[in-house]
Amino acid sequence: MTRATPQWRRVLDLAIPESCANCHEAGLSDLGVCRPCRSELAVAVAQGPRRWQPTPAPVGFPPTLTATSGCESLRRLLSAWKDGGRGDLDPLLAEVLTVPLAAYSASAEVVSARWREERVLIVPMPSSRAAMRRRGRHPLAEVVRRAATEGPTPARVIEVLGLTDRVRDQSGLDALARQRNLTEAVLVRRRHRRLIDSRTVLLVDDLVTTGASLAAAAAALRRAGARAVLGVTMGATLRKVAAGPGAD
Ligand SMILES: [Zn+2]
Repeated sequence: MTRATPQWRRVLDLAIPESCANCHEAGLSDLGVCRPCRSELAVAVAQGPRRWQPTPAPVGFPPTLTATSGCESLRRLLSAWKDGGRGDLDPLLAEVLTVPLAAYSASAEVVSARWREERVLIVPMPSSRAAMRRRGRHPLAEVVRRAATEGPTPARVIEVLGLTDRVRDQSGLDALARQRNLTEAVLVRRRHRRLIDSRTVLLVDDLVTTGASLAAAAAALRRAGARAVLGVTMGATLRKVAAGPGAD
């Protein structure tokens, strides 16, 4: 058989993933990446979750813990996962997400909110209808559920947030335009409002870029009566990017 070029491997991987979602080398070990890329990601995650705040931070940006920051490999994996059809990365990304979730479960904020009595809820960032149609699923919500059930921190995961139809695609917008676009667009679904009242919410996103999405969602949760909102992400970009994963 002819050796597939990297471009062709990407196309073939949409059907049956056989090459690394990060470097596109053939010879998948497990979890959607090759052994060297798996090790590289493990090293980035082993440095420990850290507090993260974008500069400048949008008004209302919640205190946020990220598993990694400035990890280019993770950024590429998130892109392949969300928009390259690489759902086989779900278990690997759930592993990454487990790290900051576990750190929160032991933190004073969450312990004092009585984690085990469902006073703490895990809420994934919502997806736009356009993105749902394009992807055929809400990959973040699936990974959040996996991380919450398989990790050491069982807590209730609930998709309480929705986006109004007014939201535009975030790709290509600068920080200020994103903030304006999102502030009125993120809502707590009416039927879930009672659940949020006086709860501590761990709000999960894959990647924090400008922070506008997390700030808008945190504001919606606070308006619905959340006692506290804490951000949790898999990655954080060191500088502003024009477009990329986390853009919606
Ligand atoms: Zn690789």
